[in-house]
Amino acid sequence: MDGGILRDRTGGTTVIDGASGYLGIDLGALARNYEKLAAEVAPARAAAVVKADAYGLGAGWVAEKLYAHGCRHFFVAQFVEALRLRPLLAADAAVFVLNGLQPGNENACARDNIVPVVNSLEQWHAWSGMAKALGRTLPAGLQFDTGMSRLGVPPEERAALAGLVSAGGIDVLFLMSHLASADDAQSEQNEDQRTEMERVAAEFPGLDVCFANSGGIFLGKAYHGVLARPGIALYGGAPTAGRANPMEPVVSLDVAVVQTRSVPSGTRVGYGASHVTAGPARLATIAAGYADGLPRSLSGRGAAYCDGVRLPIVGRVSMDSITIDISALPEGRLTLGSRVEILGPNQGLEDVARDAGTIAYEILTGLGQRYRRQYR
Ligand SMILES: *Cc1c(COP(=O)(O)O)cnc(C)c1O
Repeated sequence: MDGGILRDRTGGTTVIDGASGYLGIDLGALARNYEKLAAEVAPARAAAVVKADAYGLGAGWVAEKLYAHGCRHFFVAQFVEALRLRPLLAADAAVFVLNGLQPGNENACARDNIVPVVNSLEQWHAWSGMAKALGRTLPAGLQFDTGMSRLGVPPEERAALAGLVSAGGIDVLFLMSHLASADDAQSEQNEDQRTEMERVAAEFPGLDVCFANSGGIFLGKAYHGVLARPGIALYGGAPTAGRANPMEPVVSLDVAVVQTRSVPSGTRVGYGASHVTAGPARLATIAAGYADGLPRSLSGRGAAYCDGVRLPIVGRVSMDSITIDISALPEGRLTLGSRVEILGPNQGLEDVARDAGTIAYEILTGLGQRYRRQYR
């Protein structure tokens, strides 16, 4: 990983000795994941969902890399994310705002070439009003609620919207919807939503469909439309629960040891003394805690690794540190400044998520700002 040197985006370098944690982001693996997903949906195209700072990995880095690998459609959730991303991308890349058009953003969207996903009749009126005022056609995606009850035009607004669409003023780039259970290949909700999406397409003839998220891509061709919207799979998360993960890991996390100690049997460890040693033990305190995105629910459950050896988290996860039991390692193996693996070959995103009682998405998007980020 670049021998202790951090390369920034301008090609400059910074020495990175002494960080508390090292978050490795493998842009090569990201690009290979993109190409795998693009091949899976071909001849449809693959977009990239880069909301929440590309699931915590850096939207600028991710978008730039994927643009170089042919991606031209980028989805963020919030308008402010589009504002930041838009200037980093060439004009032939489209930036879409999934959460839709909020009052007050119309001007900036039109001016900066940000494409709203229109989620309601109200948003349609605001956007087509803007188009009229500017005397030009404006682009939009149209999202429909096919059974998730979260975002999108509800069924009872479809007929009215169809009339407005055919009246012109807005260039509808695609009809879209989002799958609520795509990570569960057995769920009948997938087929229900797909059928509903077919009805939508029939009511808006001649328009393209953008449908599958990561999980949807692996539900098969019928879910692809012309444009798929993977997020988590790009970043190495499993697209389908309970199946072997076909994606390459993108993220690694190593955290520094800040202190070690040997303690006798019966020693209390951490806040609330929720752990008491059952015998003599060697402990290490590592420099990351729940403020760095390692959830407090890992208390007494998760682990770190060193030389392939599992080092269980003992006691409660603190804000800035975690204590692990290193008794299974040879004495002296871990000292001040050594690093242990939190995400890597021994323990993936899905493992940490399971131990924390959450999903890979939440672990990724929570990875904190105090780690030294190493893009390679
Ligand atoms: C987040 C999101 C995606 C990406 O979902 P993944 O499960 O991460 O692939 C796609 N579409 C919409 C509307 C989303 O909100």
